[in-house]
Amino acid sequence: MSDNDNNRPVRDASLAEPALAVAARRLRTDFQLSIITLLGAAALFGIVPFGVYRFLETNYLAGAADSLISFGIISSVIYAWLSGDTERTGFALAVFCCVAGAVIGSILPDVGHLWSYPILVASFFLTRPVIAIGLNTAMVVAIIIHGTSLPSGESLWAYFATATVVSACAFIFAIRNQQQRKEMAVLARRDPLTGIRNRRSMDDALQLAASTASRTDTPYALVMLDLDHFKAINDKHGHGLGDEILVNLARMVERNTRQSDQLFRFGGEEFVLLMPGVDPDGMSAVVQGLRQKIRATLRSPDGPVTASFGAAQLGADENWEDWLKRADDALYRAKESGRDCVVIAGNNERTGG
Ligand code: GH3
Ligand code: MG
Ligand code: MG
Repeated sequence: MSDNDNNRPVRDASLAEPALAVAARRLRTDFQLSIITLLGAAALFGIVPFGVYRFLETNYLAGAADSLISFGIISSVIYAWLSGDTERTGFALAVFCCVAGAVIGSILPDVGHLWSYPILVASFFLTRPVIAIGLNTAMVVAIIIHGTSLPSGESLWAYFATATVVSACAFIFAIRNQQQRKEMAVLARRDPLTGIRNRRSMDDALQLAASTASRTDTPYALVMLDLDHFKAINDKHGHGLGDEILVNLARMVERNTRQSDQLFRFGGEEFVLLMPGVDPDGMSAVVQGLRQKIRATLRSPDGPVTASFGAAQLGADENWEDWLKRADDALYRAKESGRDCVVIAGNNERTGG
């Protein structure tokens, strides 16, 4: 009963997606992977030419060092893409870069320490800010102690001061960035009007429920509800009142269900209630209670606001899309039967599993 059929869960959509589109999506959605990839590109275009130049100059030691660094970074990037484990790869790369920065800064005359500046910034993007501070400090101290590239006491102090400023700025930026990303992750999973979880959260919760049920034998109940003739309420009394009813409905359902139950806004005036540990009898009692409560408490100037319900119990080995579809079909039948009623989906309607 969704307003928008394009929002229906599409199974195995990724199978149809071209590899390039998948890669672009991963870069867009995985911040750490994009930073790791950027570092890989920097290594490829920034360090490899230096390595080739040094070999041509017959400076084999420096050439071998550049090649080793490029190889380390590029193979880490490939590992991150293949495994998806960007947390561990980011940490390993930060350690690798700081060690490489310390070695180059210590042995390369005059300019060696300059390579530490991009590393001081990159480490904050690769790993957690507190770890990055520790790694950066170790690299800077190593360069200062062994610093053949820093001939005088004055250049040592200048390096120490500038490295500290760069690290401090990067630290503040990384902390701020981390906070904002956390806030955005929370917002992306909430419906802004009612404050309850949105459809994106619902997909994950149903998927988790289906996989947990197959391991633990826990019963799961799913209820889909849709307000009756809501468009008419909006059209007659304005969207402001419609919004108020939606907010009151969400609060009312949350107040009348258990803490372990999860309510989601499926879209528009449709909501989904997931109830772990609730068997068919419990599900029937909860959904009938909710129907009566909504009729008794939600009002528009024309009288009581009502809702129709479709409910389904998760079947053995059933996947979450089929489960949701059975609840959706039951809701459709509740609408067909005249609204303000409940239809419980039978397990014999299952399409799979
Ligand atoms: P039915 O009984 O068949 O469900 O009829 P209905 O009018 O409830 O269903 P329909 O799908 O025709 O209309 C849904 C309405 O819900 C249309 C839209 O204006 C309204 N709606 C969707 N989202 C919001 C919202 O966030 N705020 C408000 N106020 N209205 C919304
Ligand atoms: Mg409706
Ligand atoms: Mg609807």
